[in-house]
Formats: sequence, structure tokens, C-alpha cells
Amino acid sequence: MAENDKSNGASYRDKLSTVDNSGRRVWVYAKKVKGKYYNKRQALALILLAFLFITPFIKYKGDPIMLFNVIERKFIIFGVIFWPQDIHLILLVFITILVFVALFTVIFGRLFCGWVCPQTIFMEFVFRKIEWAIEGDAASQRKLDKAPWGFDKLWRKSLKHFIFFLIAIATAAIFLSYILSIDQLKVYLLEGPQIHPGGFAGLLVFSGLFYFVFAFFREQVCTIACPYGRLQSVLIDKKSIIVGYDYIRGEPRGPLSKAKEGNLGDCVACKACVVVCPTGIDIRNGTQMECINCTACMDACDAVMERTGRPKGLIRYDSEEGIETGQRSVFNARSIAYSAVLSLLILFVVALFAMREDSETTILRARGTLFQEFGSDSISNIYTIQVVNKIRKPVNINMKVLSPKGNIKYIMAPGTIEKGTVGKGQFLVILAKKDLKSSKTPIVIGIYSEGKLIEEYKSAFVGPGYLNND
Ligand code: SF4
Ligand code: SF4
Repeated sequence: MAENDKSNGASYRDKLSTVDNSGRRVWVYAKKVKGKYYNKRQALALILLAFLFITPFIKYKGDPIMLFNVIERKFIIFGVIFWPQDIHLILLVFITILVFVALFTVIFGRLFCGWVCPQTIFMEFVFRKIEWAIEGDAASQRKLDKAPWGFDKLWRKSLKHFIFFLIAIATAAIFLSYILSIDQLKVYLLEGPQIHPGGFAGLLVFSGLFYFVFAFFREQVCTIACPYGRLQSVLIDKKSIIVGYDYIRGEPRGPLSKAKEGNLGDCVACKACVVVCPTGIDIRNGTQMECINCTACMDACDAVMERTGRPKGLIRYDSEEGIETGQRSVFNARSIAYSAVLSLLILFVVALFAMREDSETTILRARGTLFQEFGSDSISNIYTIQVVNKIRKPVNINMKVLSPKGNIKYIMAPGTIEKGTVGKGQFLVILAKKDLKSSKTPIVIGIYSEGKLIEEYKSAFVGPGYLNND
């Protein structure tokens, strides 16, 4: 780990920065951030929030374009419907995502946490902004919390928590709409809790959870609860890209007034990087599990470097190795090779989606049956058919014997199969005795939908042995 670990005894590694010596929580009052990285993250956060809140209202051919109905095991991803019969595909996609996340973290560290994690986006670009607007910047918030209860504190706290709770309800409703669909959610809301107690209980639980997380639990989600955060210690190595402090350039740190005396590094010990940190850590201590790579300290330090006429990037995206050797290594052979693997994984998932069939047919010879005489010159076998309709409209299924010449006689026709349902049927395949070559004659059955051949099924037609020499 960083050399500066030793200089301060690394005592920060023994306990969380947000817990004091008596084990009580230290509230983080993060100062407002300004800078190019913050602006970029804010722009991305707005796009992602718009996507989150608008998507449930967008429909494609009558269905939402995104749905994660775990109750009915029906999923729609960018308009492609996955029925319970596609669960293996969903699992494959899920496993691919896990591999992707692990590889991505090995190269890019916690980039995901800082830029696209919903917890960070909601905390930093929704709830904290409201807090800054109502209670002021970090110093005012600290002062307000210490002040005795009076009118000013009462209205500010009440308004803040009232808005927090409204946002929590709206967010919970949106999350539920991804599970139930927005139409179903509207029905629940219009018909009320008497008819849909389960739906309303879900809404209340989610709302309460979101409110608790963003009003009280906050950064502890990242520093204590998040399993992805805990995995960092095994996924990140010296070559992974992190938000890192260049201790070679920065140390020994000291105030600007003493810098003229020489022998000091570029860090002017202003703590601007510390007071903006939403997880309450000091990045100058080295890489820490609590760092969510939010870039706030990079922006804060760059502003200080600019004011003091020093090169920016004292805190920057780099690898531990890059900082140690002075060779910046964001894009190296390893990260390029891993990125190529990540691209292949994405292609794999896209191919899985593209190759998915619109229907899935299973034909089996009926259990316990061999063959029957059909008239004086023919033999029949009984088959069952099961068709899963994975498209958005009803399908009509028909069958023909493609080889050899033969007929189909339905005992129970599969008929019209509604979207997302499974149709079943039973039928006889009738072949002329003269066409049977052995006791097991290979046959091909064509399955047609709307007159179009969609699948071919091969089987062995069972006939009596006396018809031939086997
Ligand atoms: S150390 Fe910097 S990047 Fe890490 S969480 Fe704190 S402010 Fe964000
Ligand atoms: S903001 Fe930069 S100069 Fe100021 S304490 Fe942090 S690392 Fe040092």
C-alpha cells in the first residue's frame, strides 16, 4: 500500500472514519463540490434519472419496454419479452453480468460506484442537493444540527424530511412499476389498499426503506452494507484504476506559507479533499474500501492546485503502480486486453438475445403406446405436442408430415395459442404400410404458423416388424 500508510501508522484502517472512538456514528457533512468531474457526473446522473423515471411509461406493441416481473417470471428487456420458459437465458445473462462486473472492477476499480450506482446518484444528486438548498452548505448544516430547536430549525428540518419522504414514495412507486408495470400500478392506486393490500404494503415498505436509507443511513450503504463494496479488497490490485493521491508528488505536505522554505511537496494540507468526501475519508491516507471513486476530492484538489499555480492531478485517476512509478497507467496492455474480453461478453449477451426463438415446440410420442392399425393399409402412432408462444400475438399451429408421405389426424389440436402461454395437443401420424421401411421409420414433421414453416421435428415412427425383414 501507499508509502504514506506508514507515515501515519495507518490507524484509519482499524476503524471506519464515520465512527468515533466510543463507537458512535460521526455524521458526514459533505461540502458542496464544483469542478469538471462533478459537472460530468451531474449530467450523467440527470440522464440516468430521466431514464429511470420515464422508461416505465414507454410502451412497445402494448407492453412496457422494461419489466422485471419476478412474481410471474416475465421479463422485458428493451422490448424483448422473456417468458418463464426463457429463465435459462435470464440466468445466463445474469452470470455474464457478474463476470462482467468482476472483470470491470479489476480494471476500472469502483468507477461504477462513482458514476452510475443508483445509491450515489440519488444521494449526491437528489437528496444532498435538497439538503444543501434547505440547510445550506456543510458548515451551516453542522451549525443547524448543534443549534437548539427553534422555528428556523423546525421548518428547515420538517421541509427537508417532508420532501425526502415524497421523493422516497415517488421512487418506490417507480421501482414497483418496473415489477408490476405502470398500468398495473395505476390500477392498484385507483382501487386502493382494501382491494390490493399486498401492493400497498410493498409501496409502503419500499418508501420507508428509501427514506431511511437517504435520510439516515446514507454513506453507510457504501461503507458497511454494499456487498460490491466489500468485494473491492479481492478484486482491486496495484494495476486497477482508482482515485488516488500522488503521495510521491504531494508529500511531505505542509501549508502554503511554509512551501517557500522548500522541502515540501505539492499538498498544501488544506483538507479541501477531505471536507467534500461523502464517505468522510482522507484520500491522502491511501486507497480505502470506503472510497466510492466519486471524484469529489479530485475536483476539490484541482481547484486548489489551480489557485496555487501547481499542476492539476495531485489526486487523479491512476493505478497504485502508476502513482508509485510516476508512469500514469490508465490505459495499459492489461486494461486493453480486459476491455476486449468485456466487449466479447457484451457481444455474447447480444447474440443470446438475437438467437432466441419466437416459439419453442416439443413433440413426443405418447407414453406407453407403440402403433395401431389404421384401416387396412395404414399404421398410426400417437404424439403429443407442446408449443410455447414467446411472441406478442396469438399463433395458430398446424402440422404436416414432410417425409415420407403421410397424414396428421388431430385428437386435440393445439389451435390458437395466446401470447406467453403454452398450447398442448395430441395427434396421430398415419403412414401407409408400404412406406414403412423398418420397425422404426425415420419421419419429419413440419410445424407451421400462419402457413409458414417454423420448425422441423424428426422422430422414429414405430411399425410392426412383420412388414419388413428386421
Ligand atoms: S476519497 Fe475522493 S473519490 Fe473517494 S469517496 Fe472520498 S471524495 Fe469520493
Ligand atoms: S485538496 Fe489537495 S492540496 Fe488540499 S489537502 Fe487535499 S491533496 Fe492536499
